[in-house]
Amino acid sequence: MESPLLDLARQYYQPEEVALLKTAVEFATRAHEGQLRASGEPYIVHPLGVAHTLAEWKMDIDTVVTGVLHDTVEDTDATVEQIEAIFGTNVAHLVDGVTKVNKARSGMKDIDEYLPTTRDNLSKLLIAVGDDVRVIIIKLADRLHNLHTLEFLSPEKQKKIARESLQVFAPMADRLGMFRVRMQIEDLAFRYDKPDEYRKLNKIMKDRLAKSHRRLLSVQKETEDAMHKAGIEFTMSGRVKSIYSVYKKLRKVGGLDELFDLIALRVIVENKEDCYRVLGVLHSLYQPLLDRIKDYIAVPKPNGYQSLHTTVITPSKQIVEFQIRSRSMHEYAERGLAASFHYNEQKLSKNYERGGASILPAHLSWINELQEVASNLQKGGSVEDLSLDLFADRIFVYSPKGDIYNLPEGSLPLDFAYLVHSDIGQHAYGAIVNGKPQSFDKPLLNGDIVEIVTKKSSQPKASWLKLVKTAHSRAKLKAQLNKLDVS
Ligand code: MN
Repeated sequence: MESPLLDLARQYYQPEEVALLKTAVEFATRAHEGQLRASGEPYIVHPLGVAHTLAEWKMDIDTVVTGVLHDTVEDTDATVEQIEAIFGTNVAHLVDGVTKVNKARSGMKDIDEYLPTTRDNLSKLLIAVGDDVRVIIIKLADRLHNLHTLEFLSPEKQKKIARESLQVFAPMADRLGMFRVRMQIEDLAFRYDKPDEYRKLNKIMKDRLAKSHRRLLSVQKETEDAMHKAGIEFTMSGRVKSIYSVYKKLRKVGGLDELFDLIALRVIVENKEDCYRVLGVLHSLYQPLLDRIKDYIAVPKPNGYQSLHTTVITPSKQIVEFQIRSRSMHEYAERGLAASFHYNEQKLSKNYERGGASILPAHLSWINELQEVASNLQKGGSVEDLSLDLFADRIFVYSPKGDIYNLPEGSLPLDFAYLVHSDIGQHAYGAIVNGKPQSFDKPLLNGDIVEIVTKKSSQPKASWLKLVKTAHSRAKLKAQLNKLDVS
């Protein structure tokens, strides 16, 4: 039996990698023999679908193979040892990670209890994945496929899975920069979590979009002509805001009329310079709304998103948002962390043995810190420590030299100190923020310039435990206190 998965894989992977994948398909097909999905289909349809998604995300071959095998250890007689013998240590390690996550999940309390439980649950998930973030990416593909086939489950189960997806998996995708996956998860889950509101909003948006689409076409034509004239290579398309993000925004602003960005025109160009050229063309053509020009290229969002945004008014008083980005920025915006595991980045996959997360791009370095903490926690510790790092929005602060550091919102000066270096934390004596002394209990703000004054004789105190917020600095501080034996 030839599967669409293998056809797809032939386009991206080396022949020997495709051969390995084929072996995995045969192995899993045999293992799941006789099992059925709730839809009545053979069970193997599910793992093949998950692997197909992972191949579409162009993940490395080990991850795609794991997609095929991901339910075999939990749901069949297959063992991790068998998998290791056939597919090697890396695949075995990943399958084991996915199985552990599932076990952690089944040990959790019901998701529709209040939010803190959910956060603990997510922390447990992360602890379970330990040292390989690819496990989370596989879980996201797994969750997407399950959401696509939710219609076959009972309404109670639908609601439960939908809510868990909104509270756990969507934020996780967001933190990994996988915005398109987040959107897919949210829209699928929203439909089952709040069916009435979904239907209502879906209809309103359809009506509005039909109208604005026609008007948008003339704007698109006009801007295309202007950019051709300027000699810029580009592609332009409309992007519609996801239903769930409209739903969230409506709860904040009230009326649809205040939502300018229901539909936006997205311009993709070759490089950064062209992004600014496009902005110039647009602004000489139309009047921009001043407070809606956003340069996320010079100052990326803390999760790594890069793009120029501008909203303009046309002479016919139409308000249109544009998003301008290069191809590589677009790639990142669509796939986020998954883009770091690109199949043809040979160097990456070679480095990517266990714990290879050290190759993550700088704005995702917090994942490394998190995994470090998570593996410490496996040896005993409290999951409470993790929730701020995971759920708070991120802020950027600067060293006096202009180096950028990424911290969870609510972080205190000592968190910055420990992030820069544990020695600076250890000997911290005072903090100077934007040129003025700031006490250790006052949170840092986005854009702050932070300098830590150190004194050789200064040592950490037990009272500092109240003055650190991140799991990273807490762990470092505790270790230092233990050494000093003052706790
Ligand atoms: Mn599964």
